[in-house]
Amino acid sequence: MKKDKTVHKIGLILLLIILLPALAYTVYEFTSLNRNEKLISEIYDQQLETILFSVNQYSWDVTNSWVSRISLLYEEGGGHPDRQACRTFLESQPAIGALVFSPGDSRTPEVLISSHTDLKQDSLLYLLRRALGKKQALVPKLDRYKKAGYRKIQPVLLNDSGDPGRELFTLLFVLNEQADSTRPFIAGMILNPGTFIREVLWPKFGDLAAGRFNIATFYNDIPYPPPAFGPETARKITQRHALWLFPRYFLGIRLASGTIEDIARERFHINLIFIGILDVVLLFAGWVLYRSIRREVQLARMKSDFVSNVSHELRTPLSLIRMFAETLEMGRLRTEEKKKQYYHIISQETERLTRLVNNILNFSRMEAGRKQYHFEINNLNRVVEEVLDIYSFHLQNEGFEFSLDLDKTLTGISMDSEAVSEALINLLDNSIKYSQTEKFIAVRTGMRDGRAFLEVEDHGIGIPPREREHIFDKFYRISNGLVHNTRGSGLGLTLVRHIMDAHHGNIELQSTEGKGSRFRLLFNPGRWN
Ligand code: ADP
Repeated sequence: MKKDKTVHKIGLILLLIILLPALAYTVYEFTSLNRNEKLISEIYDQQLETILFSVNQYSWDVTNSWVSRISLLYEEGGGHPDRQACRTFLESQPAIGALVFSPGDSRTPEVLISSHTDLKQDSLLYLLRRALGKKQALVPKLDRYKKAGYRKIQPVLLNDSGDPGRELFTLLFVLNEQADSTRPFIAGMILNPGTFIREVLWPKFGDLAAGRFNIATFYNDIPYPPPAFGPETARKITQRHALWLFPRYFLGIRLASGTIEDIARERFHINLIFIGILDVVLLFAGWVLYRSIRREVQLARMKSDFVSNVSHELRTPLSLIRMFAETLEMGRLRTEEKKKQYYHIISQETERLTRLVNNILNFSRMEAGRKQYHFEINNLNRVVEEVLDIYSFHLQNEGFEFSLDLDKTLTGISMDSEAVSEALINLLDNSIKYSQTEKFIAVRTGMRDGRAFLEVEDHGIGIPPREREHIFDKFYRISNGLVHNTRGSGLGLTLVRHIMDAHHGNIELQSTEGKGSRFRLLFNPGRWN
């Protein structure tokens, strides 16, 4: 009872030390995982936004640099841009289809068409006039911006065909004033947004994406120009921003390896698995620890029992010997028979003492790994007969009915005869100790499946099934009423098992509670030394 309490207490402490922190950690991880994933998701979103922003910024920078070049060409030509220089500029910028220069009210704008495009001068002029005719206020507005020190670039849609491949924009801006001009002089770069995206933005996408992102442009909802990674992937892009330069065009971005949610979920699952494994390992470790502590506690208890058992076992025969020897010494005994009886008791108790001391000595040798076995070929029957020569008298004296059945066909086997005798004596000793009213002991030898065996059977108290695996453990004694009254060290069967292990043999036990037990020692043929 006391032992159980201690062990349960230890179990509870282990549970508190190992399991609770593990559980607390798991719960904490669960909650913080969600938080972390959200944070990561936000950071990623921001990063993607920044990339989209920088793409927009880049397209803005490129057009601004073009405007600066064109302005320079215009100024260098003294208000009349050098056609040749302009053509050279157009050749270097395949994204621009044509350039147009025009005084604000001029009916004859100057148009320069790039060799990279199949635009026609007449149709361009028509489109320009029509678009600007609709936006009368546009040129004065751009001029006002210019005068305020800021050159605005205004995209103007020239044809609304609904087909992004044919759509044309002009990026209008006001040039620096010339001394002789009264009207603002405006210029425009005519281009198709798809061409602009392919020629200018796509090379930039390559740098920004670095294999980690999918960046695509959309015309309304259609991926346009069609991206290299295919429309399926483009459709999965959820993060979008309008392209500043061209209305109805959008920039989109996503992680190449899936959505942020996918990554977060995958990480969450992996973490979950790891935490699960960790918990299982901790639980297992706790359980192993608990078991080994329980075993240690039991062992410690059995050791202390052993000390008290052994002292008792030593004291009882010693006091008996002393008492009977003293009585003999005083010469108080009249009859020879009485004397003989006393001498017999003394020699019996001496024998018991010797056996106990032998067991303890053998056990300590065994524990220290110093127990030596001397194998030689011998017949099991002979060993049994030798033991019983000495022991049968003792059995009769204890009032036992004794049966001996030796298989005469047995041949010699390799064994340590002394150790086997010791095993047999221990078994006989137990049979005597653990028999109550029905005093019967049988010793048999025989062969089974080519193996010689020796067995000891009694009609004693028997061994409960749950105790059968423990009785061979060191110091182990069954703690029921009868055993408490029976002297013993808990070492007898431990020695028997050790001896049988040394012979590479095994022990079979058959027992019925209240009916008796049969211990069978099975030997293997072969030499063990
Ligand atoms: P000990 O007899 O000194 O207690 P053993 O190691 O010889 O130690 O035996 C261990 C336990 O096994 C004993 O305490 C006893 O409860 C049980 N036992 C051994 N042999 C028998 C038997 N023949 N009949 C009933 N119980 C037995």
